[in-house]
Amino acid sequence: MTVCKIKTLKNNTRMSTQELLQTISKKIEEGVTDFDIEACGQHDIGGSSWTKSGGSLTFRITNPGQRVGAMAMDGTKIIVEGSAPADVGWLNSGAEITVKGDGGDTSAHCAAGGKIYIGGRTGTRSGALMKHDPKFEPPEFWVLKNTGSFSFEFMSGGIAVICGYDCNELQSVLGNRSCVGMVGGTVYVRGRIYGLASCVETVKLNKFDKDFLKSGMKHFLQNIGRTELEQELLDFSDWCKIVPLPKESKINKITVKEFKAAEWFKDGLFGDLVEDNGEVFSLAQPGKARLRTPVWNKTKCVNCKLCIKNCPQKAIKENYLLIDEKCIGCGICSAVCPVNAWTIS
Ligand code: SF4
Ligand code: SF4
Repeated sequence: MTVCKIKTLKNNTRMSTQELLQTISKKIEEGVTDFDIEACGQHDIGGSSWTKSGGSLTFRITNPGQRVGAMAMDGTKIIVEGSAPADVGWLNSGAEITVKGDGGDTSAHCAAGGKIYIGGRTGTRSGALMKHDPKFEPPEFWVLKNTGSFSFEFMSGGIAVICGYDCNELQSVLGNRSCVGMVGGTVYVRGRIYGLASCVETVKLNKFDKDFLKSGMKHFLQNIGRTELEQELLDFSDWCKIVPLPKESKINKITVKEFKAAEWFKDGLFGDLVEDNGEVFSLAQPGKARLRTPVWNKTKCVNCKLCIKNCPQKAIKENYLLIDEKCIGCGICSAVCPVNAWTIS
């Protein structure tokens, strides 16, 4: 099998991301399936590449930029020697991605399939929005050490394993405020946890959990080159799993405004950056807050009254004056008008 070696820095001239991705794509068309890439911060390497026959692809990469393996397909194998910046395996769709060093912020963000292995630490919001389509195997996200704060935010499916190795100094192997809004999936954790969201609970491992960790740990450690840690990490005395609280215990519903005040802004990133009083508009907002405003052109109108009859808000008077407090900017008046007498912008 021919290995295609690509050096992206020659005579101090750096190949652009676009040039690199086009080169990879051309080589795949020529039948190459195995790549050694000396990158120079180029983005998206290994993701969104595929063979027409559905065959496998392998990428060994050094020094990648953001989104290595983003949207990567089933059958793709990516090995990063060293660390990788943000968005490792973003929206992974089935690839096996190994980063032997640290992963940046938002590793495994939105992952929907495949496996992501991190041989060091990962940053903030890692594993956020992971999901599981039951037609496929759940995505897996394994981290040798710890994640940053806000990880597993709004997770709805999939499995994460945070091994807490070399984390004795840390107050929490998940940072602070992880799992806010988590509604599905499982996060296995070894070590101390602090500041978890109130919508989840920690539970002891059962036999199924232990079998899962035993079966996956060997392959994970082989991939990151740390097989000597197997025995230490499979001592289950320090492990627990985090799962969403059952639906029934969340019956005490709060409004979105109350949720923002109680959960979202608290210690959050956003409160300092934007002014937001937490008000939540309804989907169809009338008056000044509506997204679009219709304007009537008297000279075009043929007085058929279709707009008046079809307006769901009864916002158009008989003389075609608009009642702003009622109009939601839906555009139906413009859509039904046979002579385009209403424009909406
Ligand atoms: S935009 Fe919608 S709500 Fe407003 S006047 Fe037209 S049909 Fe009525
Ligand atoms: S639908 Fe158009 S033509 Fe008919 S009344 Fe309304 S603005 Fe006039």
